[in-house]
Amino acid sequence: MTNEVWWRLGCFFSILIIMMLLEWQKPARQSPVPNSARWFTNFGLIIVSSVFARLTIPIGLTAVALYNQQHGIGLFNLITIPLTGTIVLSLLLLDFIIYWQHRLFHNIPILWRLHRVHHADAHVDASTGLRFHPIEIVISILIKLIAISLLGVPAIAVLIFEITLNALALFNHANIRLPSVIEKPLRLILITQILHRIHHSQKVCETNSNYGFSVIWWDKIFGSYKNEASKPDKRLDIGLIEYPNAKQNASLWSGLTIPFREKE
Ligand SMILES: [Zn+2]
Repeated sequence: MTNEVWWRLGCFFSILIIMMLLEWQKPARQSPVPNSARWFTNFGLIIVSSVFARLTIPIGLTAVALYNQQHGIGLFNLITIPLTGTIVLSLLLLDFIIYWQHRLFHNIPILWRLHRVHHADAHVDASTGLRFHPIEIVISILIKLIAISLLGVPAIAVLIFEITLNALALFNHANIRLPSVIEKPLRLILITQILHRIHHSQKVCETNSNYGFSVIWWDKIFGSYKNEASKPDKRLDIGLIEYPNAKQNASLWSGLTIPFREKE
């Protein structure tokens, strides 16, 4: 656990670089605004969010999990099952919670105000996977802290979950289109780029689908799975109708203030 930061940063930058290289070589779609502006904002938001989260919640998720382990707090620290079983169950349950968290961020108006920052991006690429309002990031950390403490998730499972979730978010936001010989079998298990772009469609019934960040089965079980949009992937209208100014949405100021503006 002492190398946690290096593991997290190493995996994050490796996946980010691979995705950006693939996007550069074979982009699935063209951005309606210069990528430089979007990238400044999307990377800027993750930096602001990280600082804001550090200041408001100055303790890491794995540190809390270790404390819980040492003090017998949470379900898995009170019952005896093999560590592998606890890790698998923890990953499943945390992923299930993240699915419902995402769904609630769409369905509860005050939370949607925050989450629409993510959806106001007029283009989807790996950097969009980092584009969240700082308050949404803090709420998300609090939800994970509560879940980890109630379940007694082991620290190693927290680390695996965080690394995997970040990697998959970069993967399924990437502006690439996998060859159908790979995409078709992959979408039986994972949310692929094409499936996740449906979630970024301007059509509300399409935005309110494919909430998963990793596996597809939560969407299938809870009836939010959509395998096809009304338009083909190449012509899908991305973004939010309430925020039609793609250039303005690409600014950092806009990213920070969208929750407090009804529309443009
Ligand atoms: Zn969403």
